[in-house]
Amino acid sequence: MSLVLYRKYRPQLFFEVVGQDHIIGSLKGGLTSGKFSHAYLFTGPRGTGKTTVARILARAFNCENLANGEPCGKCGSCRMVARGEAMDIAEIDAASNRGIDEIRALRDGIRFVPASLKYKVFIIDEVHMLTKESFNALLKTLEEPPAHALFILATTEIHKVPLTIISRCQRFDFQRLGIDRLTERLKKIAKAEKAKISEEALRFIGLASDGCMRDAESLLGQIIASGDKKIELEDVQKILAVADSKMIFDFFGVIFSGDRYASFLIINDLVDRGIDIQHFMQDAISHLRKLVFMAVCSSGKTDSVFCDNVLNAEKAGKEARFFDEWTDTQKKMAYSQAIGLKTENFIGILNIFVKALDDLRKFPLPQMALELAALEAIEELEGNFLADDSKTVADKAMPLKEKGQSIKNNRINAVDKENKINANKDVSSNEAVLEIKEKTSHSELTIDSIKNHWDDVLKEVKSHNNSLFAFVGASLPRELENNILIVAVKYNFHKERLEEMKNRLIIEEALEKVFGKKIKLKFVLDQNLTLSQKISEGAKDLVSSALKIFGGKIVE
Ligand SMILES: [Zn+2]
Repeated sequence: MSLVLYRKYRPQLFFEVVGQDHIIGSLKGGLTSGKFSHAYLFTGPRGTGKTTVARILARAFNCENLANGEPCGKCGSCRMVARGEAMDIAEIDAASNRGIDEIRALRDGIRFVPASLKYKVFIIDEVHMLTKESFNALLKTLEEPPAHALFILATTEIHKVPLTIISRCQRFDFQRLGIDRLTERLKKIAKAEKAKISEEALRFIGLASDGCMRDAESLLGQIIASGDKKIELEDVQKILAVADSKMIFDFFGVIFSGDRYASFLIINDLVDRGIDIQHFMQDAISHLRKLVFMAVCSSGKTDSVFCDNVLNAEKAGKEARFFDEWTDTQKKMAYSQAIGLKTENFIGILNIFVKALDDLRKFPLPQMALELAALEAIEELEGNFLADDSKTVADKAMPLKEKGQSIKNNRINAVDKENKINANKDVSSNEAVLEIKEKTSHSELTIDSIKNHWDDVLKEVKSHNNSLFAFVGASLPRELENNILIVAVKYNFHKERLEEMKNRLIIEEALEKVFGKKIKLKFVLDQNLTLSQKISEGAKDLVSSALKIFGGKIVE
């Protein structure tokens, strides 16, 4: 079913081909003047019309009444080709197993004159898939082609085609179709099929197909087949299970405003709608790339000049094409997002999302990678995220020193209840801290007291790095041996993250602040670990928000 529309509406004449105007013009010119090459090489992304144009060209070479470069469709040759009876036109799929045999047969049979047409035409699809041996055979033929033979080679991967072959062909580069041309074409097909479908829905199908006509047409076929009622944008989104640009704008809107909670809500919503997270991340990366581009384009220009170049379709400059997937309102929204951020921020956030996409498989649930990326992106914007190891933990700790009071308060929380009761209520907080420090350094620190004050460690880590805090919150202190604290974690990716030097240092520093003592860390894997723990009332919110990320719960 999916290919039906594609076959049904496959262009039979040059003028029906969408896009690729420069190629069609040049081919028709050659046909009309009679000065055409004997070997053509069509290269470009899949679904851009290479094979379609090759077939029309093969008919045009042989047409007896060529009119302005178009095959007539009525002469004996045209009719024979249309019936599929023309033995002189051969299509070879180099990707198939028979490729080698077919090239060999081609080499042996090529010297015989055509059976019924003017020219023998060989269309070799996916030519880059040929073996070395086949390329050599093909090269010999291309070096001295008989006057009655023509070759049309097509490839999606030009870099895999030997230069010796390329240099003997006239090369044409097929371009990905622009969204407007694609939508226009889909609209025509929908009309011919008498399908009721909104223009936004058609445009969305075009966008989802990424410039590939074949995909766009087969998607349209599936969607039309799904029912009789009028098809709206939401129906298409549901069928494709991909997010539209509005969701992406919303997602980055909350990230740029630093709203962690809202970013989680949006991710939850994506999951509820069954949207593919990997796909969403790819879209997010391409969105960021466009924002970077917008920031770069707009730098050094006044608002009005830039807006004329990008936002005003009538005066649109070269830059405008890059943003043609967005509506005018979205372009303005993107512009306000882009000018509000520094280039370094963009690079940092882009790196975070690229890494998250890369790490996707390491997470038990794909949305965890996205959640973490969202948190890290916000940290990056707030200047807290250690994007590389060049920043030292000491640098990061600087602003914290100014928050001395809160650190002291943490220390007070850290002492045993007993100490608090014994402490003289009249002493100032400074003296209290001193007393605690002395107390802890004289008495042995035990694993129980670490467990009891784990939430203070969490608070300390949270003030440094929110995403790291989530990881620490989902781990459990196990044992303390010779000042080495053994901490259990459930997942390997989680362990790897905690073991990273910069993260380890942050946690060790937090331990030192809370317990007044240098403690080294060792992480162990425990796949049976339940992420439940008994914690103090005050830290419940803090810990539960960390546990939520990892699907754990608090034991009452
Ligand atoms: Zn004809």
